[in-house]
Amino acid sequence: MPPLLARAWRLSCTGEVETALAEAQRVHDQAAGEKDESFLRGMAASHMAWYCFMLAYYEEGILHVLSARDLFKARGDKPRESWSRCVHAWLLIEIGAPNEALDEAMLGLGLAEASGEDTAIAFALNVVGVVFWMLRQLDRALEFTERSVELARRIGIDVDLARYLVNLAGIEAEFWHATHDDHGTTTRPDEVRRRMERAVLLASEAQERSSAAGDAWTERISLCNIAEYELFLERPENAAEALSKWNRLGGGGGARSQIYYLFALGKLQLATNERELAVGTLRECAATAADAGDLEIGVPCCRSLAEAYGGLGKFEDALYWHREFHARHVRKSTDTSQIRSRVAAIHYETNQLRTRIEAERSRADGLEQMNKALAQEAKLLMHASMEDVLTGLPNRRRLERALLDVESETKVYACAMMDIDRFKLVNDTFSHSVGDDVLRQVAALLRDATRDIDQLFRYGGEEFVLLMNETSILAASKICRRVQDVIRGWNWSLIHPDLRITLSIGVAESEEAGSPAQVMSIADERLYEAKHTGRDRVVTRGRFAVLHSGPTAPLLH
Ligand code: GH3
Ligand code: MG
Ligand code: MG
Repeated sequence: MPPLLARAWRLSCTGEVETALAEAQRVHDQAAGEKDESFLRGMAASHMAWYCFMLAYYEEGILHVLSARDLFKARGDKPRESWSRCVHAWLLIEIGAPNEALDEAMLGLGLAEASGEDTAIAFALNVVGVVFWMLRQLDRALEFTERSVELARRIGIDVDLARYLVNLAGIEAEFWHATHDDHGTTTRPDEVRRRMERAVLLASEAQERSSAAGDAWTERISLCNIAEYELFLERPENAAEALSKWNRLGGGGGARSQIYYLFALGKLQLATNERELAVGTLRECAATAADAGDLEIGVPCCRSLAEAYGGLGKFEDALYWHREFHARHVRKSTDTSQIRSRVAAIHYETNQLRTRIEAERSRADGLEQMNKALAQEAKLLMHASMEDVLTGLPNRRRLERALLDVESETKVYACAMMDIDRFKLVNDTFSHSVGDDVLRQVAALLRDATRDIDQLFRYGGEEFVLLMNETSILAASKICRRVQDVIRGWNWSLIHPDLRITLSIGVAESEEAGSPAQVMSIADERLYEAKHTGRDRVVTRGRFAVLHSGPTAPLLH
């Protein structure tokens, strides 16, 4: 691994995956002009793809991995091309394209075998196994994954082995679904139990190995899986032990990991009849999932909540969560089909470049042209990966990158976190598509109302971030109030006659904290305060607020 990427990798293993992603991106951007430019770019793109996978940014992951794949292919680097194809396959599964995934994984395995490199072969075998798992061909899935585990044991790299063991355990546990009918009865109870017992053993080994290797990401997943399998085997005390180990692990695990943990804990509490507690845990899980835009666990979590409330005899709540389950479920299928069509469009767009790369590769004097085409492709894909599709604004990834930049530039800056007020109500009252129109319009208004030197991002959901370079908090607050007036004053009836939209904003500046992350977190606290003191307002630093509107109302507009 190039030393420049070692830091990113370490960050990813300890759960700081967003930062790892921004770091790899920086390496990617700075590769231009380096001695081994295309290799470095390819490696950085591979890392970014993997971190995107960890963060469930599947679409962006695909863009990076395509760039890596073509770079390595052009270099004739078979093991790395194989790796890229396999990660591509994995991401394709996640966006619901398993047949394309199978083709790509098989090509990856072929390349790995041709290269004779064991680590590449083991990874490819594992991915082919996972693809079959998702295609519900469990016997085949097992066959390939067993081989990958066997090979990884021989190679002796704990990080890899632990991850393959997690998948092998998952496939064994999956046999339960394959043999149970709509009424929840299992046709082959003895076999299912035996397999589930093996899943526990495999996941436990994965946990030990990932712990030894310092890979907290895999360790957390293993522990939640153990809890789930133990619950199936009706051993809640073992499940509880696994989850308490999870709790003792150091370092943040990131939002996804937290969501998975809360879901497992909620299910444990349900199994031990602590229904009230379970409801609290699952609600926290559903809220965290909604904030992080996670639907994978968010959807089943809402269903569990509905069932839990039903069990408590609270039928109104049960109905609410059942509706929420349904809404999130529908959202999940529209989201994945939208992602699939966007990815298809990107494939189409880059295809021409790819044909050119291929053509240049076979010409003796084509090297320089090929490199140009590759750089062009990488740029196109990188750009697409940093743009929010709905609003056209730079996305959260671009912001992470911008924050790394301001940190190294040591200039003064201010940062505003903006959140649309009661936006859920807009979706619920009008429709999700009106909600989307509002988001697009807010983005356009924000763009117009801010200065060219300011950088605007869609942070996620209905939240935006404005980064203002060389701006004091005083000036920043003025800008924010202007922005707010524009949003409040716009003629929203153009979208829907009864629509009103306002923004709450929290502002902080670089002087107040040691790092951009801290500045963001102060701005976020102030945004929270703005929400809790009535919304449609700007909250800025206390001293300043006092100056303008009296000590009891830290708000201005
Ligand atoms: P508050 O004033 O406290 O911010 O309330 P809120 O309703 O705005 O906040 P909450 O976080 O409860 O809801 C945010 C909603 O934004 C929930 C989510 O479904 C919706 N949302 C997130 N992303 C999108 C999107 O891309 N399109 C649409 N239409 N809705 C989205
Ligand atoms: Mg919000
Ligand atoms: Mg909001």
